[in-house]
Order: sequence, then C-alpha cells, then structure tokens
Amino acid sequence: MAMDPKALWTMSYGMYLVTARAGERANGQIANAVFQVTAEPPRVAIAINKENFTHDLIRDGGWFAFSVLAESVPMEFIGLFGFKSGRDVDKLAQATVREGLHVPLVVDHAIAVTEARVLQATDAGSHTVFVGEAIGAEVLSGAPPLTYAGYHARKGKAPKNAPTYRGEAAAAPTPPPAVAPVASPWTCGVCGYTYDPALGDSANGIAPGTRFEDLPSDWVCPVCGAPKDAFLPG
Ligand code: FE
Repeated sequence: MAMDPKALWTMSYGMYLVTARAGERANGQIANAVFQVTAEPPRVAIAINKENFTHDLIRDGGWFAFSVLAESVPMEFIGLFGFKSGRDVDKLAQATVREGLHVPLVVDHAIAVTEARVLQATDAGSHTVFVGEAIGAEVLSGAPPLTYAGYHARKGKAPKNAPTYRGEAAAAPTPPPAVAPVASPWTCGVCGYTYDPALGDSANGIAPGTRFEDLPSDWVCPVCGAPKDAFLPG
C-alpha cells in the first residue's frame, strides 16, 4: 500500500488549551492532540512539540492541564495562544486564569478543564507524548466544543479570492486586468485582520505605502501574532 499523508488528514480532533507551570514560570498553548486513553483510572495523553515553551514546563513541572475550547472561541484568542510564544509574551496575563491543584487553568472560552499528573513521557521525535492521570476535572459550560476541522473551516472562510477559490475559477478563466494590481490588501487567515498597504502598520514601524510583499519576513499579524504566511490576498 502507498503512503498517502492525506489519509491522516481525515482524522478528527478537538481544540485544547494546554497549560503548565514549572517553578515561577507558567504558560499555555493550543494543541489538538489530546485524548483520553483509559477510563479507570482516568488517564489522558497529549502530544507537545519539543520546541514549545509549554513542553519544558510540563517536563520540568510534572503536571499539565487542558481546557476544552468552545466552538464560539474568537480567532484572536487562538492566535494569542497558538501563534505567540510564552518566551516572548506573558500569555496567561491576558486570560482569565483560575488556580488548579498544581497548574493554572484558563477558563475563557472553555467548556471543561482537566488537570493531570504526568506518569510517563515518550519521545516521539519532534514531539513528546505525555501520559497523565487526571486528578481534577470540571465541566464549565454546556456549549459545543470546537473541532480541529471546524477551526480550519473558519480559517478558510475569510477572503473570497483565497487559493482554494482560485482553483475553482480556473475552469472559467477571467481576462487579466489591464493594469497589474499594486499594493493590494492581505487578510490574516487566523483572525481576519486586513493589512492595508495604504495604512501600513505604524505600531510595528511599517510605513504607509508598504506593500504586503515588502513586509519583513519576521513581521507578524498585529492582532493575533500569526506569521506572514498565514495571510491570504484580498
Ligand atoms: Fe491575525
């Protein structure tokens, strides 16, 4: 049998905000690979990228918690916890945090929180799989959860001239514009912020009249912190 990665893309996940603490340092990040492995005793597993700040906090602190995010969670909130590093920003200072048994719990846009003690850490290459025993858990709301597929569908909703739409338009090509468009706006696929070249991004030292294409490669969305490649024309 061939190895088609698209087969794996059909798998279903939720969206979670994983938190941890080691000593004075605490952080939270978005993760989709969170699942229950046994019911009795209740054990859960999470896969966290080794490069993430939260990874080191779980490894060093020995505990983690996760909030199940509601379907209604704003994209800006996912942007804060998913696209900014806790090494640069105190993310938890911008959220409603409740103290758990050992780690902070983020309750904004959360329908449930679970806190677990790490039993085992397995090296899985780019990620570590932490298996933990759930020690505390609480339902906060009856709202429906956000799924990973739902998150991607919302991201893709933004501009009409996204790459996927162009694919459909290819069947019925439209004549090219007489004058090549210059300095067109680009929209953040995570939070919906539109970069307007006429305005620039003065808060980050980008002068009015700067084309999106000419923004520095390390420029990020001023609203949610998503990188430049998360933007789509339009
Ligand atoms: Fe954004």
